[in-house]
Amino acid sequence: MSGYVGRLAPSPTGALHLGNARTFMIAWLRARACGGKVVFRMEDLDHPRDKPGAAAAAVEDLRWLGFDWDEEYVQSERRAVYRAALARLDAYPCTCSRKDVACAQSAPHAGEQLFYPGTCRGRYASWDEAAAACVPRLPCWRFRVPEGTVVRFNDAFAGPYEQDVSRTLGDFPLARDPDGAGYTLAAMVDDLQMGVTEVVRGDDLLPATPPQILVARQLGRNHPAYCHVPLIVGTDGRRLAKRHGDTRLSAFRAAGVAPETIVGWLASTCGWNAKRTPTRLRSLIGRSPLETIPHEAVVWTGSFT
Ligand code: GLU
Ligand code: ZN
Repeated sequence: MSGYVGRLAPSPTGALHLGNARTFMIAWLRARACGGKVVFRMEDLDHPRDKPGAAAAAVEDLRWLGFDWDEEYVQSERRAVYRAALARLDAYPCTCSRKDVACAQSAPHAGEQLFYPGTCRGRYASWDEAAAACVPRLPCWRFRVPEGTVVRFNDAFAGPYEQDVSRTLGDFPLARDPDGAGYTLAAMVDDLQMGVTEVVRGDDLLPATPPQILVARQLGRNHPAYCHVPLIVGTDGRRLAKRHGDTRLSAFRAAGVAPETIVGWLASTCGWNAKRTPTRLRSLIGRSPLETIPHEAVVWTGSFT
């Protein structure tokens, strides 16, 4: 039995689309090909951006495509775990504007991260003092990033990656308040606790990885391996969105498209199915090398054929 543990970690902020499906397919096959385990984790800490019903719909969409998993977790039920981890980190309360903290509740996809100049560093002696200065809002918690904090790791797909977190992000947000863990904190704590050995996700999250590594280090743990793969984009080269037509999995299903048609097309974009033959997800196990996946983004032209 292999020690590999992978994960699928959707956010219920909207319906799953083709791009999510491709990344999940690569993640799932990485795990299944070596007899590893798949953890399913619902990343639902971003109220009010989370949409009612989206979590259940994501499960339904993924099962329809042929995904399965061995363990299932819901982040909103794990707040005590994040609170305990937060208490062990070198963090301080910040009373600045809430905007960038609100963004950080969800995974900050490329271009969504903001630099914080450390305004509140050393400003308050305690959480209570910061809270008193902030009424009626609550302060947030920020991770102290010392000057010259350069993080390097070797991505299984993207190759060597390096980022000076003190210059790109500064003291990044961990939690909206003591009970309000954000993405960086929750995802890293979960990856560690759930024994995830490799994180496979979209390469727009590459710049979100170094802060997670800093969290892991400060918790005294080794971070998992990483494998960031390119996204699907529209013909305008931009990340798949509504303007590219309806690419929600549920919309294809409602239109009578077979899951095998979608999987067959997705596999073709990875170099695993040149003829775009309709394919069952399961039949790709062991036929899904990383090496054939193009390093450029995949373009969705609006058709599976
Ligand atoms: N839940 C995040 C998202 O859907 C993914 C986070 C991750 O894979 O680390 O954007
Ligand atoms: Zn501040």
